[in-house]
Amino acid sequence: MICPRCDDQRAAKIFDSPESGAWEIYRCPRCFFTWRSTEEDRVTRPELYDADFKLSEAKIREMIPKPPIVPPEGAASKPRY
Ligand SMILES: [Zn+2]
Repeated sequence: MICPRCDDQRAAKIFDSPESGAWEIYRCPRCFFTWRSTEEDRVTRPELYDADFKLSEAKIREMIPKPPIVPPEGAASKPRY
C-alpha cells in the first residue's frame, strides 16, 4: 500500500470495520497519515492527493519538533552589573 500523502510504500492496514468488509483503515509509518478505504479518491489515491499537501522526506524532517536552545545553567538568573 502506498501512502497518498508521502508516497511511502510501507503503509499498511491497521483496522477492519466491526461489520466485516464495510471499510478498512490504513496508516503510513513515515508521515503517520491515516485514511479509511471508503474516503474519496483525492484522499486515498497518491496521484490524486492535493500536491500542496504532499510531504517529502525533507519536509517531514523539517517538521520534527526541535527543543528550545537553553542558556547555560544559571546564566539567566545571575544579575548583570
Ligand atoms: Zn506517508
